[in-house]
Amino acid sequence: MGVSYRGHMNTRAADVVVVGAGLAGLVATAELVEARKRVILVDQENANNLGGQAFWSFGGLFLVDTPEQRRLGIKDSYDLALQDWMGTAGFDRAEDYWPRQWAQAYVSFAAGEKRSWLRERGWKVFPLVGWAERGGYGATGPGNSVPRFHLTWGTGPALVEVFSRIVREGVATGLVTLAHRHQVDEIVRTNGAATGVRGTVLEPSSVANGVPSSRVGVAEFEFSAGAVIVTSGGIGANWELVQKNWPKRMGKPPKHMLTGVPAHVDGRMLGITEAAGGNIINPDRMWHYTEGITNYDSIWPNHGIRILPGPSSIWLDATGKQLPAPLFPGFDTLGTLEHIVTTGYDYTWFILDQKIIEKEFGLSGQEQNPDLTGQDIRKLLERVRPGAPEPIEKFKQRGEDFVVADTLSDLVAGMNKIGETDLALEDIERLIVARDREMDNDFSKDLSVSAIHAARNYKGDKAARIAAPHKMLDPASGPLIAVKLHLLTRKTLGGLETNLNSQVLKSDGTVFDGLYAAGEVAGFGGGGVHGYRSLEGTFLGGCIFSGRAAGRALR
Ligand SMILES: Cc1cc2nc3c(=O)[nH]c(=O)nc-3n(C[C@H](O)[C@H](O)[C@H](O)COP(=O)(O)OP(=O)(O)OC[C@H]3O[C@@H](n4cnc5c(N)ncnc54)[C@H](O)[C@@H]3O)c2cc1C
Repeated sequence: MGVSYRGHMNTRAADVVVVGAGLAGLVATAELVEARKRVILVDQENANNLGGQAFWSFGGLFLVDTPEQRRLGIKDSYDLALQDWMGTAGFDRAEDYWPRQWAQAYVSFAAGEKRSWLRERGWKVFPLVGWAERGGYGATGPGNSVPRFHLTWGTGPALVEVFSRIVREGVATGLVTLAHRHQVDEIVRTNGAATGVRGTVLEPSSVANGVPSSRVGVAEFEFSAGAVIVTSGGIGANWELVQKNWPKRMGKPPKHMLTGVPAHVDGRMLGITEAAGGNIINPDRMWHYTEGITNYDSIWPNHGIRILPGPSSIWLDATGKQLPAPLFPGFDTLGTLEHIVTTGYDYTWFILDQKIIEKEFGLSGQEQNPDLTGQDIRKLLERVRPGAPEPIEKFKQRGEDFVVADTLSDLVAGMNKIGETDLALEDIERLIVARDREMDNDFSKDLSVSAIHAARNYKGDKAARIAAPHKMLDPASGPLIAVKLHLLTRKTLGGLETNLNSQVLKSDGTVFDGLYAAGEVAGFGGGGVHGYRSLEGTFLGGCIFSGRAAGRALR
């Protein structure tokens, strides 16, 4: 491939330019390599960051009616999954035309060839299927009727490797040119069609993966191609954009949120693509978590980690009131966020005990799961031994949001030290004593307790995920633990409107010739395949499905 320099301008040409070397960009590039197309894969970060957010991810994938589910006694089907998806998405806008098409196509992929297609490329699955977003409303409401969160054996890095291996082969055979530290500032158009990108070559940087890098430019570049695929991710690290796009129906944006993604998730390419004529829809749909904790060992600024909780913790708002049913831990992320913002505070509390933390706390992120990430069976078996997994124990000891105490009065005193309100010991005690009384039977009028019993009817939860119902104030369950939970930015559910070939549309609904988008920047397909909510594990899968569609359309 020719590389030439005009003054300070670095110019190149290829069949396709892909903007963003995250999962969606890698999948699209891999598809093109298999079709022997020449690709320039551009990214503003250095080579350490290959894979973007997916590298940091837990590697959880939404799959439907799999052998893993069947082995655990789960009966799932395309129809049930589509019912869940539509009830969760709540599509209600005219611009949801393409998102709906994408939803149907994606659920069909997840119930069909997704698993075998990935396995052919070397993907390995962990046999225990997780139950995320349990819903709690009617059968047509939001939530997963059954567990569908399939973990990648090796978490995010192993999933990235499935595609980066093919891209590396493309580099070795001269089909792929990797252009790291190249920041795209403009989409070049010729007669209305996208024919390349222009931008700034950033100064070299050797920062570690996930660490913010310099934005100082040292030259300009222009790459031309028959088509451009934008796979630049969402807006989760751009607080101004999160505030600007905050949904009106939820009032004012929170004052404080932790950041759940690296700084490169800056949303700049959305504005750049819009300026070129691409249509953005559903910018106010975002997927932020409500169980964020401050990382004591931050990689990126304001770094928060999400707790993946089981249902047994008692969830209180900042004033000490229990969140209403069905807003139990792990049930309805958006519903919980909508409720929290009405309380006037940006944080809530979990109250739990040692027995619960040992079984029910997971932490999202590959680095928080060294056993799964390192594919280390010996370490994994330590999870069934007494004691919390090491990363959780470290947070318990070092995390600024954790209070650990032998007595409830010490616990509440600790909570009052780090909270913004003064909680009354008597109120918290009344609540916990009352709930402890509900633990004497295998059934209960308290829906939060019924949820624990119901979850334990699923083999996977009973064996590995949900603590046996017990009384928190029994000293044998101790110590008591309180966790201050922050709101945490993560995913962007709206984005560039695309048809099923991942072609970007213009605001008049016609195709923007030569321009494609996939992954988070395209709302994971269509400009918002999730609607308002996600069933979880749908983001990585959405990058794979929409990245593949873009690559295939250009073969
Ligand atoms: C901790 C964590 C855990 C997660 N766990 C899961 C999970 O278990 N399951 C799940 O489904 N999802 C999960 N996710 C979400 C998922 O990882 C992301 O949504 C997905 O990886 C986004 O991929 P992407 O390719 O669209 O964008 P990104 O990964 O954000 O990649 C975009 C790339 O584009 C580059 N770029 C941006 N703008 C420019 C520009 N102007 N010029 C050049 N380059 C540019 C960026 O540098 C970046 O490398 C998790 C995310 C995180 C952070």
